[in-house]
Amino acid sequence: MKIIMLGAPGAGKGTQAKMIAEKYSIPHVSTGDIFRANIKNETPLGMEAKKYMDEGKLVPDELTVQILLDRVAKEDCANGYVLDGFPRTIPQAEVLNDALEKMGDKIDYAIDVAVPDENIVNRMSGRRACVTCGATYHIVHIPPKVENVCDKCGSNLILRDDDKPETVLNRLKIYHEQTQPLIEYYTAKGVLKTVDGTKDMKDVFADIVSILG
Ligand code: ADP
Ligand code: AMP
Repeated sequence: MKIIMLGAPGAGKGTQAKMIAEKYSIPHVSTGDIFRANIKNETPLGMEAKKYMDEGKLVPDELTVQILLDRVAKEDCANGYVLDGFPRTIPQAEVLNDALEKMGDKIDYAIDVAVPDENIVNRMSGRRACVTCGATYHIVHIPPKVENVCDKCGSNLILRDDDKPETVLNRLKIYHEQTQPLIEYYTAKGVLKTVDGTKDMKDVFADIVSILG
């Protein structure tokens, strides 16, 4: 099963993608996580990507597409995957579509986690991410058991630099301009499903499971 998560930054794509990955035993592939791991390891790719990410801009397609194609070509993706944060532009979607088509394959579901802009700044300013394992929490809605400590691995939780309110507004603007057109793109392919992302995370997941079966 090949699944794409669509939605504004902070809509809950990552939260749901992790739960989907666990239930259906497929890898969770997040381009944002791949970039953040490269930044942490101070690789040339990480240094280049950071310039864009810190300003809330998209990393250019030339840098992003190959990383994704290499990742999904790995053995663990043979039975499917859930993509979180890719594609974010029509050209990225087309490259993915062409690569799959060459193998006689296709995306099965594009799930749009719909959350209005008004909720997004609150979601992102309350998001806390684990510096080690990437688990995410929300200080009000999905708090860790101990403040600022990851339930899963015990490391510290941080507010991502790009979750500061001034950057969030820029990311939302770019989402509407460059990523939202993908909703029409996947509707035309007959694979778009929309879930109400304002519900409690468990209810959002139940809606997704009823779609995926
Ligand atoms: P995305 O991957 O779309 O950027 P995340 O999954 O990281 O978004 O979620 C953004 C923030 O909102 C996180 O702090 C997360 O814990 C919180 N969150 C996710 N889903 C819900 C939900 N259904 N209700 C309330 N908060 C949520
Ligand atoms: P995310 O973790 O998905 O919120 O991504 C964090 C940041 O990484 C984004 O704001 C972009 O700067 C960058 N990024 C992640 N995925 C992509 C992508 N598919 N295309 C371009 N930039 C991306």
